[in-house]
Amino acid sequence: MASPHTTVTCAFTFEAAHHLPWHPGRCRAVHGHSYRLEVTVGGPVNEQGVVLDFDDVRQVVERQVVGPWDHSDLNTVLDNPTAELLAARAWELLEAANLPLERLRLWETPRAWVELVARH
Ligand SMILES: [Zn+2]
Repeated sequence: MASPHTTVTCAFTFEAAHHLPWHPGRCRAVHGHSYRLEVTVGGPVNEQGVVLDFDDVRQVVERQVVGPWDHSDLNTVLDNPTAELLAARAWELLEAANLPLERLRLWETPRAWVELVARH
């Protein structure tokens, strides 16, 4: 029988402004969101009994993404800060910091999110 694969997820929230210059509707105007970011890492459970310490995951995500993006204008991060492209940028920033990413979810509203999943 295959042993289960273990993942660890940390969730974060941040507030930020953006606008989508190409958008025909209301997203063209500057507005804000309370974003929620969920970062999932995976790997073997080590001799301490963890995949990665929650605090270590949290520290990297705060440093790379949530700190810089909180209370910012996301149009200074990307010219076209859609949830899809922001999630892709967050993935790059976290991968560059050596997090073993499995999945990343970025919620733009409580009812709408995008998800990136690692290809194996
Ligand atoms: Zn928006």
